[in-house]
Amino acid sequence: MIELIDVSKRFGDTVVLRGVTARVERGEIFAVIGPSGSGKSTLLRLINLLDRPGGGKIRVNGVDIHAEKEQRLRIRRMMGMVFQKPAAFNSTVYENIAVGLRFRGTGEGVIREKVRDALDVVGLAGYEERRARTLSGGEMQRVALARAMVIEPEVLLMDEPTANLDPVSVGMIEELVLRINRDLGTTIVISTHDMYQGQRLAHRIGVLMDGAFAQVGTPREVFTVPASREVARFVGIEN
Ligand code: ATP
Ligand code: MG
Repeated sequence: MIELIDVSKRFGDTVVLRGVTARVERGEIFAVIGPSGSGKSTLLRLINLLDRPGGGKIRVNGVDIHAEKEQRLRIRRMMGMVFQKPAAFNSTVYENIAVGLRFRGTGEGVIREKVRDALDVVGLAGYEERRARTLSGGEMQRVALARAMVIEPEVLLMDEPTANLDPVSVGMIEELVLRINRDLGTTIVISTHDMYQGQRLAHRIGVLMDGAFAQVGTPREVFTVPASREVARFVGIEN
């Protein structure tokens, strides 16, 4: 479903990714874990076509991201993204969630229904008219998730969606991730620097280090048979 083949990316002289290869299957929860600055956000932005790789190939549902505009637009529409620092438009929660549907030309009646359902799912029923900028961090993170979900994406990209949240909000977001995957079959790529979150959520984990995946495997594999001393150190098993 998502194929990454030898993907590289540099900013000026800084090589961030130097050969990322992995395959995320349809319906899978795939966690990208790695230390701060390892390139997790960069990788997610490449998958979401917000930036272009320097080299290598990325395919989503068989469509190359280097394809022409029409095809690229099709890929974009399959994907929802929750950003590491969710930005709120200075308007109501309703408008903040409706934006993706507006873009697709959905009618107002349907939008109202879908926004209400999405708010229900994230536990914020009745929040439509609240100003988005008055929300707490955890509430805003859930609005960001509702915004990504409301378009019913086939692929949901989540960039550290629980960074800076309290444990209760973290638990709530994690339950949502599992539920969306289970109930809707959504393919989810989630980045985190918290390897335990990877363990709790993911079917498979890719450990991003020094610009490439040092290991891709089930949480069990990564935690019990780390591929290198560096991976072992990162997941906290020193031996
Ligand atoms: P964190 O866990 O802190 O969110 P990350 O794994 O998401 O980190 P990235 O944000 O992808 O890491 O950044 C990887 C490296 O690329 C960092 O050194 C960062 O400074 C650099 N970088 C990212 N975007 C740019 C940019 N637009 N211009 C220059 N350097 C960038
Ligand atoms: Mg990041």
